[in-house]
Amino acid sequence: MTSIWLDEIAPDGYPSLDEDTTADVAIVGAGVAGVATAYHVSRGGAKVVVVEARTVAEAASGRNAGFLLAGVAENFVAAARRYGENRALHIWRLTEHNQRLVREIVARERIRCDLAWNGSAQIAGDDEEWAEVRESAARLKKEAVRVRLVPEDRSAIYDGDGELHPVRYVRGLARAAVKAGARIHEGTRAITATKSEVRTDRARIRAGAVVVCVNAYSQHLVRLRVRPVRGQMLATAPVARRVFERPAYANRGYRYWRQRPDGRLLVGGWRDTAVDEEVGEDERTTSRIQKQLEGFLRERCAEAEITHRWAGTMGFSHDALPYVGHLASGVFVNAGFTGHGMAFATATGELIADLLRGEKRPETDLLAPDRP
Ligand SMILES: Cc1cc2nc3c(=O)[nH]c(=O)nc-3n(C[C@H](O)[C@H](O)[C@H](O)COP(=O)(O)OP(=O)(O)OC[C@H]3O[C@@H](n4cnc5c(N)ncnc54)[C@H](O)[C@@H]3O)c2cc1C
Repeated sequence: MTSIWLDEIAPDGYPSLDEDTTADVAIVGAGVAGVATAYHVSRGGAKVVVVEARTVAEAASGRNAGFLLAGVAENFVAAARRYGENRALHIWRLTEHNQRLVREIVARERIRCDLAWNGSAQIAGDDEEWAEVRESAARLKKEAVRVRLVPEDRSAIYDGDGELHPVRYVRGLARAAVKAGARIHEGTRAITATKSEVRTDRARIRAGAVVVCVNAYSQHLVRLRVRPVRGQMLATAPVARRVFERPAYANRGYRYWRQRPDGRLLVGGWRDTAVDEEVGEDERTTSRIQKQLEGFLRERCAEAEITHRWAGTMGFSHDALPYVGHLASGVFVNAGFTGHGMAFATATGELIADLLRGEKRPETDLLAPDRP
């Protein structure tokens, strides 16, 4: 079954690419990463051509929960343990920048995507996690992050976090990229990508630079340490009462839920209960995961009618940070979002635009695709 978001919005219907063409920058993939890259690069004045095998936002970008969180999936203490305090803070600032960019672009381009800033709840699943959630809040508060604890729920509320309709956002951003001069071709699958050429089965694009933004599908085109991982969700018909106050992210990010402005409930995740099964590119729901999503839903709202169940494919990197920059082959990549592409990709698209202009940013080394 398709996602609630894709079910609601018809594709814009961009034509396929049927003859050879040229571009300053060719982009493969039109999820949030490819589209954000196209937007920033086009606004910089370069001639951009995007090829997308399916339709804009039809893969993970149209199948997620629409959370715009700061930070990575892990809490800040866990992130600091993994990356070091300074890097963890740097990543935090990058995702805050992503939030600011989304806010600015949505206003500038008048994208109607139900963008709201109700904050998010980071909820601990056990005592150890609760200790980390508390300490994370204390550390980030010192950095002027707006966060408060709710001990009875063992949660921390991050007031700066947002939520949106991902398909409305990404397709709105695609229209803004087109307005800035980009050409988008749907139904056009790249077969090979080198630093100066993209080939499809019908045409070739000669380009000054090539950016591969196919996330989970990267291995088909480039040598990148991305592996496909499945995520599942369900959604309900509108519920008249407020069941979930704000987007919630629980058990180290493995479980999440929210309620849309129209009252529909969304529940996703529970991948931690079937880690070995939830891999690969198959966008298939399983009764094992769906039963657990439904079990949680019934605890919170027994009466809700389930209308949608779906799966999407995420691209996991080796260290849970995206790969942004160029490979030894000269091909640029913007991928490996590890289940957090809405939190990163509007900003990493901007980073790619800067890199293409030869500008180095502080994040360049942190996110370099060949980092150890
Ligand atoms: C269930 C679920 C819930 C999630 N919830 C959240 C959330 O709340 N917040 C968050 O930040 N992230 C979330 N994510 C992750 C987020 O959806 C992804 O990180 C993000 O969408 C990745 O965007 P992308 O553009 O890199 O990849 P995609 O959206 O997968 O786009 C890649 C595109 O490349 C195209 N493509 C592939 N191969 C080719 C080819 N050879 N030629 C041409 N085109 C090609 C595909 O068709 C696809 O459209 C969730 C993911 C899932 C599955």
